[in-house]
Amino acid sequence: MKKEILIYEKDKEVLNFLRSFFRGKNEYSPRFIKSNADVLKRELEKNMPSALIIGAPDGLEQVQPLEIQCPVIAMIHSAHVATGIRSVVKCDVEYYLLAPFYKEDLEHKIRLAVERKSWFENLYKEKKDLKAIIELTHLVSSTLNPREVLYLTVKKLSEIINVKRCSMISVSLEDQRYAYVVATFEDPKITDVKLDLKKYPEIRKALSLKRPVIIKDALKDPLMKEVRDIIAPLGIRSIMVIPVIFHNEVIDTLLLRTSRAGHTFTEREIRLCIAIANASANALYNAYLHTKLNKEKTRLEKLAIIDYLTGIYNIRYFYYRLEEEFSRAERYKLPLSCLMFDIDHFKKINDTYGHRTGDIVLREFAQLMKRHTRRSDVFARYGGEEFIILLPQTSMQGAITEAERLRDVLKKHQFSILKEENRITVSVGIACSPDEKIQTPDDLINLADNTLFEAKKKGRDQIVVYPPLE
Ligand code: GH3
Ligand code: MG
Ligand code: MG
Repeated sequence: MKKEILIYEKDKEVLNFLRSFFRGKNEYSPRFIKSNADVLKRELEKNMPSALIIGAPDGLEQVQPLEIQCPVIAMIHSAHVATGIRSVVKCDVEYYLLAPFYKEDLEHKIRLAVERKSWFENLYKEKKDLKAIIELTHLVSSTLNPREVLYLTVKKLSEIINVKRCSMISVSLEDQRYAYVVATFEDPKITDVKLDLKKYPEIRKALSLKRPVIIKDALKDPLMKEVRDIIAPLGIRSIMVIPVIFHNEVIDTLLLRTSRAGHTFTEREIRLCIAIANASANALYNAYLHTKLNKEKTRLEKLAIIDYLTGIYNIRYFYYRLEEEFSRAERYKLPLSCLMFDIDHFKKINDTYGHRTGDIVLREFAQLMKRHTRRSDVFARYGGEEFIILLPQTSMQGAITEAERLRDVLKKHQFSILKEENRITVSVGIACSPDEKIQTPDDLINLADNTLFEAKKKGRDQIVVYPPLE
């Protein structure tokens, strides 16, 4: 590619020298600025040349070389050597030529200046990359959400290198036939798009090697032979797959795709992607660990309050809620009712069908009741084939209505596992506060238990309440 050299010189003799110098020099493309310094400044803002050749002292005085981002070569005129040198020093210009000018000298200076520019450009790019990695590290360390880490990583990458596609792909360790797009920079909401790995030999290779796989030309690389027909119409040119590795463990696979025609990934871009993949690995690992721990914590918390057989609350949780609701009811003078259920003749089910069938019936009964209890009520297994429901802000009448409604639901339900007599009945004891005999949460439960006993005595399949109805 030709190096563009901008020239701002008014002296006719020097101009002639420069014109004859550039004649036949194919590696440079000179551009002469004929009007004033303002035009020159605008030109420099628009497009930075490889070097600027400028007359001294006049030209130099008119522009501020310190603000110019490209190398400057000053041509000091013979009539003003002393002031020319002073302006070169004052403006901190690194390259200058003293009249009389020689083509070899100018050639040498231009070469030095151009080299310096590309050196600066590289340094500037590396600084930019480093900044991006630092920014990403900072960003991802501020979240413990793995999805967010994934999205931030692909987004940052796509900001610094111009890619068509940039996605984070997750491959399950159990089934390596498929992969899932878990984040893509185009849309933060896109997740879990399924990919058939048969069509992605580059991902398979990166997975087995646990090393980055770079396809410089997807249409020529032998690895891509089997999928060439799929890739060709998509215009994909270069592909990069970088496994995100933490402590030798592949956490995820970072897959970058570009369809830039005639443009493959540069060494710098590859280095940058690997650095970014590494930077996100640490954050991802922390985020995964955090999510796993949280899930485990929720599972354990749930286990501690759920009855394993029936899947409803256990008595531990019931007591905890009872204490809470009892003191609330006292404080705000609200009614509170307690329903105690006992399945009638349950022993017969066990004796006829076996304990295992009894278990299934218990679970089915509990789930049926659970579906039909109000969300604000607390339904729990009291023990054996006895169940209990706490009804906050519910007085006697409400509790009776609720008990009858549930008995109706039960009456209509057929337990398919039971062959004959596939319906079951319950006896219900109800206790309601406020009442002078109910001073503690235990009083409420004991009275419900007593009334349940009465219901059994009276012949089962019925509701008895405390305090007794007039
Ligand atoms: P009733 O309440 O009507 O007086 O008669 P019942 O037969 O239901 O009552 P009883 O208290 O005599 O027997 C309760 C039975 O419930 C006995 C026990 O084996 C059974 N049971 C308690 N817990 C479980 C359980 O978790 N699974 C099974 N399958 N049976 C249970
Ligand atoms: Mg019982
Ligand atoms: Mg019973």
